[in-house]
Amino acid sequence: MKRVIGFFLALVLASAADAENAVRFVYKEPESRRDAAIKQEMEVLLPVDNVVRMLNDVFVIPRPLTIILGGDEGPSHDLESNEILLPYRFVGEVKDFFKQHNYQETGVGIQDAAMDVTLYVLLHEIAHAMIGMFDYPTLSGREENAADELTTVLLLEFFDDGTEVVISAADLVDLRSKAEKGAAKEDFWDLHDFLGEPRYYRTLCYVYGSNPKEYPELLEGTGITKQGAQVCINDYKKLTNDWSFMLGPYIKPGPEQPAGADAAESDPESKAPQTAPHSHLAP
Ligand SMILES: [Zn+2]
Repeated sequence: MKRVIGFFLALVLASAADAENAVRFVYKEPESRRDAAIKQEMEVLLPVDNVVRMLNDVFVIPRPLTIILGGDEGPSHDLESNEILLPYRFVGEVKDFFKQHNYQETGVGIQDAAMDVTLYVLLHEIAHAMIGMFDYPTLSGREENAADELTTVLLLEFFDDGTEVVISAADLVDLRSKAEKGAAKEDFWDLHDFLGEPRYYRTLCYVYGSNPKEYPELLEGTGITKQGAQVCINDYKKLTNDWSFMLGPYIKPGPEQPAGADAAESDPESKAPQTAPHSHLAP
């Protein structure tokens, strides 16, 4: 998958002009003062322009995809119109939820956490769009899992602060499932059952597996054993290999590919820019 980043960087560094912009985004006029305030926050903090540029630069997008921010409906992706809807209301609800749960005590502010979740959800809907457009036949019946996995890979491999985004989103899932029915996580790891609530653990497992040296404490309190941690490393490797293979046919050839494509692999500073830095893992 690092190869994908290589392609991306080669394109960006060479400032390759691409006339076709198959993916575009539009902000709808807000209909209330609250929506107007949220729109303003999104314009400053949500890197939707980076996301769209990355999609247009890296992938062959078979048909136009429009991201509509604002409006009443969503978050959703409509396969027929190939439109993604992400209403301001959703961002407001996420902010309220994090506020209720005093999420700022984790060291990450409510606004940052809400934008993380919004970015995660935007990419999740984009993942649905990619699964639909790229016509992956083997994924029927488990598309939600596949969309989550692709979202995680895109965030961890393409975005500098992708880890923070994934953790905020995983925390939201965890807090919600605890609020809804109480936590029942003791048996999870033994069963290695990734259905339902264990989405949280699976996601943390991938984040850990993506860089175990950087996140040694991430699995604390999850019940995941040392042996389990090794499984996380293997699982993440497999995940990126699988998606690299699946996405391969839809990746645009870059000006320096394939010889220069791996140049970014050893350069940790080479990912795309992201939102203002914040960290769940700060001491
Ligand atoms: Zn979904």
